[in-house]
Amino acid sequence: MSEPITSVADNILNVENIRKDFPVLTQIVRGKPLIYLDNAATTHKPSSVIERISKFDAEEYGTVRRGAYKLSENATQVYEESRQKVADFMGAEKKGEVVFTSGTTQAINLVAHSFGKRFVNAGDEIIISNIEHHANTVPWQVLCEERGAKLKVIPVNDAGELMIEEYEKLLSSKTRMVAINHVSNALGTINPIKEIIEKAHAVGAKVLVDGAQSIPHMKVDVQDIDCDFYTFSGHKMYAPSGIGGVYGKMDLWEELPPYVTGGDMIMQVTLEKTTYAKPPARFEAGTPPITQVIGLGAAIDYLNAIGLDKIADYENTLLEYGTRLFNEIEGVRIIGNAHHKASIISFYIEAAHPHDVVTLLDQDGISCRGGHHCAQPTMIRYGVPATTRASMAFYNKPEELDALAESVKKCIRFFSA
Ligand code: PMP
Repeated sequence: MSEPITSVADNILNVENIRKDFPVLTQIVRGKPLIYLDNAATTHKPSSVIERISKFDAEEYGTVRRGAYKLSENATQVYEESRQKVADFMGAEKKGEVVFTSGTTQAINLVAHSFGKRFVNAGDEIIISNIEHHANTVPWQVLCEERGAKLKVIPVNDAGELMIEEYEKLLSSKTRMVAINHVSNALGTINPIKEIIEKAHAVGAKVLVDGAQSIPHMKVDVQDIDCDFYTFSGHKMYAPSGIGGVYGKMDLWEELPPYVTGGDMIMQVTLEKTTYAKPPARFEAGTPPITQVIGLGAAIDYLNAIGLDKIADYENTLLEYGTRLFNEIEGVRIIGNAHHKASIISFYIEAAHPHDVVTLLDQDGISCRGGHHCAQPTMIRYGVPATTRASMAFYNKPEELDALAESVKKCIRFFSA
């Protein structure tokens, strides 16, 4: 007899202890204990992050980079310590290679705008894939329209995997940028990012990796994969919303013009001309979200204390268990069955629209996402208007997936009646 799932999971990490760190998880929703399975949209914060933010705001808050007084000096120091934590977490060589933005969306817009202005011209080509978030689609479409460049798209197979042999055919000396997610938010596919980057570099193209869904769930090493840019969002990694950023190779940052202009990004301003600060300041105009940056540093401390390898192992166990449960439910089609997947199960029930499914799940205290997940081209590819998505974090328990499966069965009975 195979070992029960709870003991397999317990051998990796003690989820009951972990759950004590997340105050929100004790909530009762519609008379039932909250089962939170929308972690790909946003994650909850452990007490250590909440307490760090609160202490910073109560006792340490000050503006950064400008003041020559104690509060400002201290705030600047902890702000820059957070940048170092992010750099170490991603495996960046230099702290200054990390530029803070409000999140992945702004990070991709920054790169599309600045890189595009400097390096993309009429006749050039940009490559994305058929399973990108709109945040990694629209900025490149706009750039191509503005510069007279062409957008090319890597197709996916029925399992949700990129067709690498088709990608190879799209690459040429005209390719300036390959912009690709590490993990698809709609399907959970983990893309073979190192191989994709190697092939792009072989034709002289740069690579931006949208890491919004990977950074919180697996160990990432930007130097090892050799990407040119790598983006992330704090609110998907147990940190506050309103903060995120992008790693970029320093020699590339140095060549790029600013995106947003104003205070703090300058070297000198006269009424005739402005010279720009060095990166990362060149790309961080205005007063940044200071408290959120401190919270991000605390979230990284928390993740490091557990260990990304353990987190990945545990979440993988949840994924395998949930997939098994869903495969046994008649009337459920899992969209996205890639060989390498992160802890996301996207599914479709013929009997009901995902919006109705999630409304019923909510009656059982279960928070799932129903919609196109800002990936409409992906929905079109799989012939569905939307999916219901359960996305797991390391604070989820196998028992919660049992409850989800029961609730989905109830839902199918209800809509088929
Ligand atoms: N890319 C991916 C893969 C995502 O999942 C998301 C968020 N759902 C984004 C980009 C956009 O991130 P944000 O809304 O934090 O800017």
